[in-house]
Amino acid sequence: MEKNNPSRRKFIADSSKTVLGITLAATATASWLDSRAGELRLPTNPFTGFTQDPLPYAYNSLEKAIDATTMEIHYTKHAAGYATNVQDAAKAEGVDTSKPLEEVLAKVSKYTMKMRNNAGGHFNHELFWKSLSPTGSGKPSGKLLTAIESSFNSFDSFKTQFSDAGKNRFGSGWAWLFIDGDKKLRIGSTPNQDNPLMDISEIKGFPVLGLDVWEHAYYLRYQNKRPDYITAWWSVVNWDFIQNRFASQP
Ligand code: MN
Repeated sequence: MEKNNPSRRKFIADSSKTVLGITLAATATASWLDSRAGELRLPTNPFTGFTQDPLPYAYNSLEKAIDATTMEIHYTKHAAGYATNVQDAAKAEGVDTSKPLEEVLAKVSKYTMKMRNNAGGHFNHELFWKSLSPTGSGKPSGKLLTAIESSFNSFDSFKTQFSDAGKNRFGSGWAWLFIDGDKKLRIGSTPNQDNPLMDISEIKGFPVLGLDVWEHAYYLRYQNKRPDYITAWWSVVNWDFIQNRFASQP
């Protein structure tokens, strides 16, 4: 068994020191979020850096849901701005940018509003780009599908509840599918660029899937019709990536 394997335990312990600089419990039952203690423990993988990763597809490849101009402005202006500003904030506030951004989010209350807005904005968009694909399968499978069906009765019911979270978010923000401290899948939303990893968030947990409902994400094609954007967005969700992310939580 994993926890009786000294070399693996040593590897995990060493990795946690050298790669993450934080202490992780090296047991098979380790949880990144101990709800009883209210203590956040970060997953070893994946984690987010402070710079933008390349967009994994062309601007015009999601046309069936999101137009190329929106994608280009969203990635090169809005999201790029969050990345630049979070690096500025990190420099001003003494944050080591070789460490995971998730560490900042977990204690974001200790930093400025500039850090909160831009660390959240950068994290949320890095997750958002990877969550989309020109060849979305339309539906998850395997353990994620089973978990969604058990938590929300059916995949269609999940889609309705998640869509409602996005439609009903007043002003700008995000809809989330996340894993809470009891390892249950939940749906919620956050204002502005907040997310469930933040210590100040009303909903707390590990974000699996996030939907950007800021007007900058859809206004050119959909204008005021946010529900139409959300309906189309489902057709480009990268369920392979989301399933791997779901499986990556310790
Ligand atoms: Mn956005």
